[in-house]
Amino acid sequence: RGAVLAALDLSLPSWTAQRSVSSVTIPPPACMLLPLEVPNRYLFGPGPSNVPPRVLAAGGRPIIGHLHHEMYEIMNDIKKGIQYAFQTNNHMTLAMSGSGHAAMECAVFNVVEPGESVLVSVNGVWGERVAEIAERMGAKVHTLVKAPGGYFTNEEIEKALAKHKPVLFFLTHGESSAGLAHPIDGIGDLCRKYDCLLLVDSVASLGAAPLLMDQQKIDILYTGSQKALNAPPGTAPISFNDRACHKMFNRKTKPVSYLFDMTHLSNYWGNDGKPARDYHHTGPVSGFLALRESLAILAEKGLENSWRHHKEVAEYLWKGLEDLGLKLFIKDKDLRLPSVTTITIPDGYEWKELLAYMIKHHQLEMTGGLGPSIGMVIRVGLMGYNCSTSNADKALAALSDALKHCPKRKA
Ligand code: PMP
Repeated sequence: RGAVLAALDLSLPSWTAQRSVSSVTIPPPACMLLPLEVPNRYLFGPGPSNVPPRVLAAGGRPIIGHLHHEMYEIMNDIKKGIQYAFQTNNHMTLAMSGSGHAAMECAVFNVVEPGESVLVSVNGVWGERVAEIAERMGAKVHTLVKAPGGYFTNEEIEKALAKHKPVLFFLTHGESSAGLAHPIDGIGDLCRKYDCLLLVDSVASLGAAPLLMDQQKIDILYTGSQKALNAPPGTAPISFNDRACHKMFNRKTKPVSYLFDMTHLSNYWGNDGKPARDYHHTGPVSGFLALRESLAILAEKGLENSWRHHKEVAEYLWKGLEDLGLKLFIKDKDLRLPSVTTITIPDGYEWKELLAYMIKHHQLEMTGGLGPSIGMVIRVGLMGYNCSTSNADKALAALSDALKHCPKRKA
């Protein structure tokens, strides 16, 4: 590619010769005259994961108008698919036009008003992010902090709820930066006792680890499209229950974001009971088509089968990693996230060299830590379409090869 680009650059004088008659001063970039190149990779990191041909094909269907009645039908299907995936009857269910961060911001911006108190559990990067988002919009942010891999007992959470009296409590179900699946039972009841909304992030866990929005009394739940759902990145399912709707639709101030204002989004998704859906923004049509297909695959497979399958493949992977002499970062099996496994960086190795070796020689992506877990872990994700024992074998073979060939830097 470098050589072709250099050759193309040599042809630029022919363009400069025409400059006197042209009104444009910036030439077409040489790279744009080359075909698009995308490598085939095993995406065995924490996401995005590989997208099955059926979902890619759905995203490649013709574009239709985002306000056409066929699109409304597709959006209605998506709502039903999310209700199934989340196990909720919430009417206020939709998909954000944006990645997981869009859903995080939408939740915080809509239910919290400036000056209100928010409690955020921070045991990895996602709590840090939500704390920052809430702080930026003017909330009074309180944090409950543990090192990556740590989790919060219900007693600790109750104490903090009683002390800070927040309007919102944030918890990450699948902490992908640490590989932890946080227990959820009982937290919804505590939040009700202290008149607080429970916001849960399931970007990395939805479809991979059991989560029941209504039964577990989660008030707001969101996920992303690109993990176990295996759709392309860029859409993010979210759902609000009646308690959350009551808070967000009885605000004194407007949410800071126009794009994420649920008054508009609920109309765009046909959730506000009004006869007409008005233009608010142009939704990512191809992204929605792909999301619909990925939710259809989950519905066909069945949630419980999907949870079981992720657990079985994760256990197979964990055993293989231990057989290679590696240590798993989360010691307690019951707290391990089945979709994203964290490995303690093996003694003496430079983690970046191991990852670079696997990309170069195996076309296989794993990643390092994120935020506070950087330098602590290597992360392997086998999610949805990628979740199979044969892919676990590929990941183990690549790691074993990297461990043999990368030099040990320290004794
Ligand atoms: N929460 C968790 C648990 C995640 O794993 C991620 C993505 N890695 C996000 C939120 C943010 O999602 P996105 O990158 O799609 O904005």
